[in-house]
Amino acid sequence: METKQFKAESKRLLDLMINSIYTHREIFLRELISNASDAIDKIYYKALTDDSLSFEKDNYYIKVVLDKENRILRIIDTGIGMTKEELDDNLGVIAKSGSLKFKKETELKDGYDIIGQFGVGFYSAFLVSDDVTVISRAVGSDEAYKWQSKGVEGYTIEKCEKESFGTEIILKIKENTEDESFDEYLDEYRIKNIIKKYSDFIRYPIKMDISSSRLKEGSENEYETIIEEQTINSMVPIWRKNKNELTKEDYDNFYSEKHYGFDKPIKHIHISVDGAVSYNAILFIPERTPFDFYTKEYEKGLELYSNGVMIMNKCPDLLPDYFGFVKGIVDSEDLSLNISREILQHDRQLKLIAKNIKTKIKNELESILKNERDKFEEFYKSFGRQLKYGIYSDFGANKEVLQDLLMFYSSKEKKMVTLGEYVSRMTEEQKFIYYAAGESIERIEKLPQTELLLDKGYEILYFTDDIDEFAIKTIMNYKDKQFKSVSSGDLGIESDENDETSDTNKNENKDLFENMKNNLLNKVKDVRASKRLKNHPVCLANDGEVSIEMEKILNSMPDNQNIKADKILEININHPVFESLKEAFKADKDKFNLYTDILYNQALLIEGLSISDPVEFTNNICKIMK
Ligand code: ADP
Ligand code: MG
Repeated sequence: METKQFKAESKRLLDLMINSIYTHREIFLRELISNASDAIDKIYYKALTDDSLSFEKDNYYIKVVLDKENRILRIIDTGIGMTKEELDDNLGVIAKSGSLKFKKETELKDGYDIIGQFGVGFYSAFLVSDDVTVISRAVGSDEAYKWQSKGVEGYTIEKCEKESFGTEIILKIKENTEDESFDEYLDEYRIKNIIKKYSDFIRYPIKMDISSSRLKEGSENEYETIIEEQTINSMVPIWRKNKNELTKEDYDNFYSEKHYGFDKPIKHIHISVDGAVSYNAILFIPERTPFDFYTKEYEKGLELYSNGVMIMNKCPDLLPDYFGFVKGIVDSEDLSLNISREILQHDRQLKLIAKNIKTKIKNELESILKNERDKFEEFYKSFGRQLKYGIYSDFGANKEVLQDLLMFYSSKEKKMVTLGEYVSRMTEEQKFIYYAAGESIERIEKLPQTELLLDKGYEILYFTDDIDEFAIKTIMNYKDKQFKSVSSGDLGIESDENDETSDTNKNENKDLFENMKNNLLNKVKDVRASKRLKNHPVCLANDGEVSIEMEKILNSMPDNQNIKADKILEININHPVFESLKEAFKADKDKFNLYTDILYNQALLIEGLSISDPVEFTNNICKIMK
């Protein structure tokens, strides 16, 4: 018989399953039972549209059978089964194909992340078994097939006999090693507990033959062992249960059983609504960003059930994009089961549920911010960017929902603060909410433009995310306070110097600045004396809607349209360098031109902008050093 090879990715994954020192081996059962339950679901759907099939609930179940002596564990289902081709297609390739390539080789070494993150499904059988057999007969087919594999070497498929439809997974449980005992996976009590723990809400009965000791009838001291088939799971879905009956662990287990993420959620929201529309939902706010979250591949959505039956795996309409990180499930009796996707989108009930859910999430986030600050900041690290995108998109239509949740690093507090906190600290004379944009906190702290404001004791918010300034421009103002960049032409601060001296200064230097401006034609809009500089000789300020940070970001995009900020070169006339500049202006025009060029390029470098001719720039510096 021919041995077939696993696809390359599957092989690596299998290798991982077999060799990893994984502490949660027990999850294999959860995976296999969940596949069995999916297989029964599939018959259920089929029966809905296929009149030749009828679904008698009592005929559908999952059974787990232990054979301690031969080290065999079997999982039998009465589901849809697999044809020969399906056995080949479904079990020869990792289901979440492509997911592994996202992971770096180094991360792959430790199996833990992978197992949790992708829900490796069927292959988890190899966590406890080194010889896996699948016997399956597809509904409507007379033929049954046997798939068998002992690991990475490959698998075989051959014809076999099977009386009824469905699938049977046969695991030969590994022998104990020096470090690890596998006997527990043959222990009735232990297996029963694993089922209870992970699969309690599976909607079909999971049966086991349970042995118990009973006093023999008519005897007073003779015991007999009776074996009785029992249903182990309660079959009530967790979202239908009463909140008071559930522990945090139950929710966490549900989260990982559903493969919502490999982290622990920072919060769950359990909703039971009876009203214009009735529904139950369990929503989770994850702690960490899924690896593909900020990519096109990421699909938002909640699982949608109608009266306990799943109708959609990921219903995107239930979540706004800005809450796209939320995971979970919604079950409503008010949705009709046969509705197609199209109709579903327009479903009034669905819209009501979505609206309701949005409010619940917002309220929950606000309450975490208020009562569990650390948790919120953790969350914000992962998903803050998504909230800011939410403000920016749709022309700011959602800013009311989101702006109270924004946080930025504060120059004063040296930590993340909300806009509300900033505004509450503003003094009466402070007119604006000041911010500085840059690559990192460290770089912003060194920006000359912040000197005056910091000197005056004003708080500055540091924008280090690409999206920050765009989001803020969309909000426009918060609690009637406008935002102002530290680089903007006018900082809105009353000047300390009296206007007369600054006016004389202006006239005195007018020619000089005019000349500089002409030298820098098309590069800057204006050259002027700075009011904000204290220790630095120059900086760039800007006029107009597009800031220098925005120019950088827009121009780094693939479809850049070469958008430019209107730049103003500001000179610190109290700096010794200005004296040299003045002298050169009077005595040596070449030198003056040279100085102008160097000062302008310095200002560009401080902003993190590139200078157009670095060689010329360094040559110029050399010239003045001579
Ligand atoms: P997933 O369940 O996420 O699709 P798995 O690795 O768990 O990934 O399973 C791979 C595929 O194998 C399933 O999608 C299904 O088509 C098939 N399969 C696995 N177990 C069964 C089963 N008991 N009955 C029918 N099909 C199954
Ligand atoms: Mg599965």
